[in-house]
Amino acid sequence: MKFEEIAKYLERVEITTGRIEMINILTELYRKIEDPQDAAILSYIILGEIHPPYKGYELGMSEKLITRAIAFASGYDSSEVEKRLNVLGDIGRVAEEFISKKKQKTLFTEVLTLRKIYNTFNKIAQTTGEGSVDMKIKLLTGLLINASPLEAKYIARLADGNMRLGVADMTILEALANAKGSRERKPILEEAYNKYPDIGEIAKILYSEGWEGIQKVDVTPGIPLRPMLAERVRSPEEAWEKLKGRLAAEFKYDGERMQIHILGNGEVQIFSRRLENITHQFPDVVEAVKKHVKLERGIIEGEALAFDPDTGDFRPFQELMRRKRKHDIHETAKQIPVTLRLFDLIYDGQSYLKKTFPERRRRLEEIIDENELIKVSELIYPKTLEELKKFFLLSVEQGFEGLMIKSTGPDSIYQAGNRGWLWIKLKRDYRAELTDTLDLVVVGALYGRGRKAGLLSSYLMAVYDPENDVFKTVCKVGTGFKDEDIMEMNRLLKPYIRDRKPARVVSQMEPDVWVEPAIVLEITAAEITLSPIHTCAYNQIEKNVGLALRFPRFTGRYRMDKSPEDATTEKEVIEMYQRQKKIVVEGE
Ligand code: ATP
Repeated sequence: MKFEEIAKYLERVEITTGRIEMINILTELYRKIEDPQDAAILSYIILGEIHPPYKGYELGMSEKLITRAIAFASGYDSSEVEKRLNVLGDIGRVAEEFISKKKQKTLFTEVLTLRKIYNTFNKIAQTTGEGSVDMKIKLLTGLLINASPLEAKYIARLADGNMRLGVADMTILEALANAKGSRERKPILEEAYNKYPDIGEIAKILYSEGWEGIQKVDVTPGIPLRPMLAERVRSPEEAWEKLKGRLAAEFKYDGERMQIHILGNGEVQIFSRRLENITHQFPDVVEAVKKHVKLERGIIEGEALAFDPDTGDFRPFQELMRRKRKHDIHETAKQIPVTLRLFDLIYDGQSYLKKTFPERRRRLEEIIDENELIKVSELIYPKTLEELKKFFLLSVEQGFEGLMIKSTGPDSIYQAGNRGWLWIKLKRDYRAELTDTLDLVVVGALYGRGRKAGLLSSYLMAVYDPENDVFKTVCKVGTGFKDEDIMEMNRLLKPYIRDRKPARVVSQMEPDVWVEPAIVLEITAAEITLSPIHTCAYNQIEKNVGLALRFPRFTGRYRMDKSPEDATTEKEVIEMYQRQKKIVVEGE
């Protein structure tokens, strides 16, 4: 398929401010595609990728390199292109502008196809070593020379890894379901995608093997699945009631979630909660798994905790995050050693997704050879509510976050990518302020005054509504940010600033700038109140009224391990609001 045709669709997607319209345009585009490989490539490209993120391919093209390619292809000086980039702040628009006024007209231009773009970007990703920078620039220049201004816009953005379309994986799944059936089939695609989150593969299977093929998709070592998530309660009583006493309770550790894959050839891979391949940060965990997990091929899950080798005490979560910033990983691994607490088994040669929690746990215990570095999580099967309460107190007393309470019933399967009542979190301090912190997405920002003039210093925050795949505002937050946080926020937000409301954002407020949903922050608040301004839960509790956070404050924790779709959901906020009301009434 010609890239020009695709670029025209992408432009329509870019300028629409409505989500339904966005889906319709994408559906129309997918209906034009016949070849399964094209469907795969198109899906990656719409997301600004050429492979699923867990494969960790880096194009290695900085803005500077892209600028040079634009300069070569258009016959201008790099400094002129850079100057324009400083004004426009969007490498795509810069490419479009310079290609439309390029100095030499090429005599023979090659028509760009989707395949050509994809193959060239693959080459760019694979070019490494000496002379690779020049080679990368040459390859990109080759594309830009043959590109129309519109094509150039999206080629440059793809090189930058940011398409600025506001389309997420769930949006693509909906368009695919529409194009190959109907919207009602989106859950079938979603289920497959939860087990195998590779948007290109899913599109390819749908186009080549149809819905039957999609239903056969299952977990596979080497492909991270989307993690199962928990609902929350305020008290052991509430959890006991929810699960009718059929439950297990585990300590809730405050570390980093790890999905560990054993590939069969002796290789071990580690994936984060966001499914990024973080293997290289944890050579010590890899070694420990090789030695102490008795599986040929497998997928297990647990929490990694930093600990002090001298005292054996656990260290705060933040220390683990330091590993991300360090270059000499082996040295850091010695200074900040980690220990694993495993809590689930998903694959041991066959898929355990459909097995009950007790079955999965039993198998997990069988295959772990426990020692200081690897243990299964502390667990009990309480027979009474009293026992559960005692275990909760024990966990808090030992400095843990509280409990993870898990259903042991016949339906207690592993629900990849879902937040449900099969897992429940009960955290300590549940009577202070709000039950829990919220993880909210920045969708807009406002300029400060005085000392903070010219800096975006308060932020419009939103929850996620997975049913409609949109973000709804719940507060504006400007408290809790230190000076360095404000600098960091301005740096983090820069690539996501937009002059139009992003299509998946639902807001009545008009911030100074809009922000494409990308950055997640942890926020606390005094309580949840009714609000005529915010769109979270709008019309769901009372007519013309939504829910908002009162006295919101940034906790200082950037949730880089969460994507915007992992943020606190609208439904969770409604539940928190209702529970809070109940407590007030009960307390009266
Ligand atoms: P969530 O992962 O639910 O979106 P979050 O990242 O903010 O939210 P929490 O709300 O604190 O985390 O609780 C869930 C997390 O607790 C899990 O994702 C996992 O990383 C961690 N965890 C700690 N101990 C356990 C355990 N025993 N079983 C399952 N998860 C555990």
